[in-house]
Amino acid sequence: MPYIQAVPALKDNYIWLIHSINSNDVLIVDPGDAEPVIKAITKKHRSPIAILNTHHHYDHVDGITQLVDKYDIPVYGSDTVYIPKQSISFSGACKITLHPNFPEFKILDIPGHTANHIAYLVNDMLFCGDTLFAAGCGRLLGGTATQLFDSLKKISKLPNSTRIFCGHEYTQNNLKFALTVEPNNEEIKKRINKIKFLQRAGKPISPTTISLELATNPFLRCDRNEVIRAAQRFAGAKLDNPLAVFTSLRVWKDLF
Ligand SMILES: [Zn+2]
Repeated sequence: MPYIQAVPALKDNYIWLIHSINSNDVLIVDPGDAEPVIKAITKKHRSPIAILNTHHHYDHVDGITQLVDKYDIPVYGSDTVYIPKQSISFSGACKITLHPNFPEFKILDIPGHTANHIAYLVNDMLFCGDTLFAAGCGRLLGGTATQLFDSLKKISKLPNSTRIFCGHEYTQNNLKFALTVEPNNEEIKKRINKIKFLQRAGKPISPTTISLELATNPFLRCDRNEVIRAAQRFAGAKLDNPLAVFTSLRVWKDLF
């Protein structure tokens, strides 16, 4: 199984390096900046073999041109949006073999944050860009609330142990919002304490897992009574289905 390295970049982005265990090969996910990636790769004497892109926002693509010029590697991404230097495009969900040194990757269509967002699933690891965040989800910047709701539902149906590698570090702020929505959720309180402990110990707080998100992420809990009541209070109206609850939470979080 490949191992994963986080490369913090820009203000709060994560660029993910997927290292092969039986070779020096490495895949780069969403390089919003080239320099920290080059530094990390050079330090470990690794050979990049491809770039995987989840969506077209600048903080996920701005390092691509420099990396392709330096390493001459292919760029994978959705075929419905412009990605710099893109050489291999996917339309819709599919499976791909990138290289014999890596397991098969599954491509998931997960629109909502943007209209053309995709994710990469390899073994039990999901690289989902700005769709799901630890205890939160992406803003609507091109897609619809219905699309994002359906995409999160799709992700939440993956096995509970699936590890999720998100595009940004927003955990603390997201948990503050989660606790505002569900002040009686003990799992959220536990998670807040655990994050504090990890940060004090200088340990990484990513990745998250499906089971952790199902227990603490309000956007995946739109059928829970406490979440419904909080979303209704914010909306000032009765919300009679999970999508309406989700939509209200998304607006609320934008203003939080
Ligand atoms: Zn984005």
